[in-house]
Amino acid sequence: MKTLAILGSTGSIGTQTLDVVRQHPDEFRVDMISAGSNAALLVQQALAFKVPEVVICNPEKYQEVRDALPSGYNVHLGIESACELVKKPEVDVVVAAMVGFSGLKPTLAALEAGKTVALANKETLVAAGSIVMESAKAHGACIYPVDSEHSAIFQCLLGADGNPIHKIHLTASGGPFRTWPREKISSARKEQALKHPNWSMGAKITIDSATMMNKGFEVIEAKWLFGVDTSKIHVVVHPESVIHSMVEFEDGAVMAQLGLPDMRIPIQLALAYPRRLPLEGERLDFQKLSGLTFFEPDMDKFPCLALAFEAMEKGGNIPCAMNAANEAAVAAYLKDLIGFYDIPAAVSKVMSGVNFVQNPTVDDIFETNAQAFALANSLW
Ligand code: NDP
Ligand code: MG
Repeated sequence: MKTLAILGSTGSIGTQTLDVVRQHPDEFRVDMISAGSNAALLVQQALAFKVPEVVICNPEKYQEVRDALPSGYNVHLGIESACELVKKPEVDVVVAAMVGFSGLKPTLAALEAGKTVALANKETLVAAGSIVMESAKAHGACIYPVDSEHSAIFQCLLGADGNPIHKIHLTASGGPFRTWPREKISSARKEQALKHPNWSMGAKITIDSATMMNKGFEVIEAKWLFGVDTSKIHVVVHPESVIHSMVEFEDGAVMAQLGLPDMRIPIQLALAYPRRLPLEGERLDFQKLSGLTFFEPDMDKFPCLALAFEAMEKGGNIPCAMNAANEAAVAAYLKDLIGFYDIPAAVSKVMSGVNFVQNPTVDDIFETNAQAFALANSLW
């Protein structure tokens, strides 16, 4: 029996994590759940899974959660409470499923306590990759990827016995605008950007997929998780989302992981590793596949992907600045304040506008995040 703490339990990854728990009541119990503002769903989850520690981060929603739960449920306010609760001795696995930079603090707290982290919150690695990986190493904490591509790479490396990676082929669906011309994309409304062809996800990552910033983030995530230089990571557009990523070895052999686009598969593996538990759901039917296709990404239509490679090249705190600018710009796009290509424009401006720090400390990362956020928000 493993005990879980779920940061961001009310989101897309959080609710699918609880679906996995529901299928395996003898394997997993949940000690802590946290949400930003969705009090109603948080309360429902606490009661359904009998979760003793419940964290709500929006102070305006605290009383609502407190009033709805009987005694025996501890209700806490704010991210600092989550940082403390992930450290509880009974917690085995912390599921990092908050969205954006706000997930960094509790993820670092979990690693510092030596906890196994099932990591969905890729922005933590984009903003603070070296700090996160060093902390995991220093405290003997394992990070298992939840992101489908990184789970695929992780699975392709099982049994590789330390043989060097020649190349990672990171697959991308291409998002909803893959076949649109640039002029049409430039006037894309959020309702169109929010229609992902293959995956149902939270709003922020869905927009990141439409701009392909998500794939840029995933290049950075792969670099840190698997210790490979970004020059060895090759993005390949694969619209069917059947191959979740591939690893090529030095002898030319390529290992791939395939499956239907169902996030519960990588979530469950990260929770149960090294075991593979049964999972109900549709299965990949090869007779029904009309074909698998592959294309080069179009950096002209999707400049965010090029910006992510540029940020890694510059290094230091620049990926952190990129992440913050993107977070601010996506929020503005979702409020109809800016157009689609204003997102990469803002990211580019902020990347060259922040003070450069070559080897950032945690404090530098928080400072860069705040500076970049303010700089981006001054643009509209
Ligand atoms: P959602 O937007 O669906 O969920 C985000 C969760 O974080 C919710 O529980 C939300 O609470 C909570 N949250 C948001 N802001 C705050 C805050 N300021 N303080 C505390 N809690 C907060 O996102 P997803 O589940 O789609 O994504 C989560 C992470 O996983 C992201 O980093 C994403 O990139 C990554 N990921 C997601 C995939 C997917 O399929 N969805 C695939 C691969 C990676 P509330 O509901 O109250 O707002
Ligand atoms: Mg992914």
